[in-house]
Amino acid sequence: MDFAPATEVVHLGRPDRVPGGPLNPPVVLSSTFHEGGDTVYGRDGNPTWVALEEVIGALEGGSCLVFASGLAAIAAVLETLPVPGRVVVPGDAYNGTRRFLADVAERGRLRFRTVDVADTEAVLQACAEFCQAPGRPSGRSEQFGGGGLLWLESPTNPLLAVADLAALAEGAHQLGMDVVVDNTFASPLLQKPLELGADVVVHSATKILSGHSDVVLGAAVTRRPDVLEQLTRRRSLHGAIAGPWEAWLALRGIRTLSLRVERAAANAAVLAERLAAHPRVVAVRYPGRPDDPSHEVARRQMAGFGSMVSFETTGGAQETEELLGRLRLLTVATSLGGVETLIERRGRWQGEQALPPSLVRMSVGIEDVEDLWRDLEQALGRS
Ligand SMILES: *Cc1c(COP(=O)(O)O)cnc(C)c1O
Repeated sequence: MDFAPATEVVHLGRPDRVPGGPLNPPVVLSSTFHEGGDTVYGRDGNPTWVALEEVIGALEGGSCLVFASGLAAIAAVLETLPVPGRVVVPGDAYNGTRRFLADVAERGRLRFRTVDVADTEAVLQACAEFCQAPGRPSGRSEQFGGGGLLWLESPTNPLLAVADLAALAEGAHQLGMDVVVDNTFASPLLQKPLELGADVVVHSATKILSGHSDVVLGAAVTRRPDVLEQLTRRRSLHGAIAGPWEAWLALRGIRTLSLRVERAAANAAVLAERLAAHPRVVAVRYPGRPDDPSHEVARRQMAGFGSMVSFETTGGAQETEELLGRLRLLTVATSLGGVETLIERRGRWQGEQALPPSLVRMSVGIEDVEDLWRDLEQALGRS
């Protein structure tokens, strides 16, 4: 039977229904297993991982592997590229992804070019120039990434631009490239990149999927058996495996994913509107706002607009930090996707200095929206 995602998150990844058996999968704390079954050694497999993989795989529509962190999943995907790899990547991709690429590029194992993913034509133009250079074979390579890789993130961090995933995947495939989408910000409830043509989806399950800011975990999902085989091998060889406890906590968190996503997005929509009307706020970025530059693409591509909101204040960096210092309910911290609302000035991070100094990114939680607004309003001041 096929179920809707809201049912899948609740019912998948459970043990067989046997009299007296538990409803929930156990946390299997074992480094080795009796011979003759699917699992032999704890670096290669664990039944608690499998339960979580069943849920995430069903949501994304592919086969899932969980990893020690989002970055471990990202690294496993990028490490499957032939040397020297060629990667086209958003200039505002997750900074860990950018740092990983820079590190590998420094050692001569790949080259990458950055693009603005909201501009479909410019991305495909860059792909054509970068990956179809004279002397390079054209046409889709047998090997994953052999014709170059287009790495996508949507909505982007922290400016929340939305990439037209279907158009980009189709264009990149025509150029012989493969396509990966980091779907962390949207979650599979709002956006299904494999259905839009992507070859691989990666997640920082640390964020919305787990949802309680208590786990670091990652996942990669694909429909391609060759890529699944490569990633499985990378996971065992690199050893960047999930702990059984973390997998169990993520599974526990994902049960409420659809409720959390719904409530957080509803809160985000209200806060985005009120912020936009506030005299101390100059620019609000939320794909759900009808005048947002990404609104049309988001409406076509996503089942909702998500829980991330970014805005600039009328002040500079210092004033914005002071404003954040006045908050009493919203928490100043990095990361996102938890039940609690987190907020931070992004420009405080190294590598993010190109951003407007007063740009604030907010990961909206599931609290009462009036409480959230009261706190924001008192911190912004009423002038
Ligand atoms: C946090 C994050 C990552 C990295 O995931 P970790 O679990 O922290 O390793 C990758 N991509 C995006 C979009 C993220 O927000």
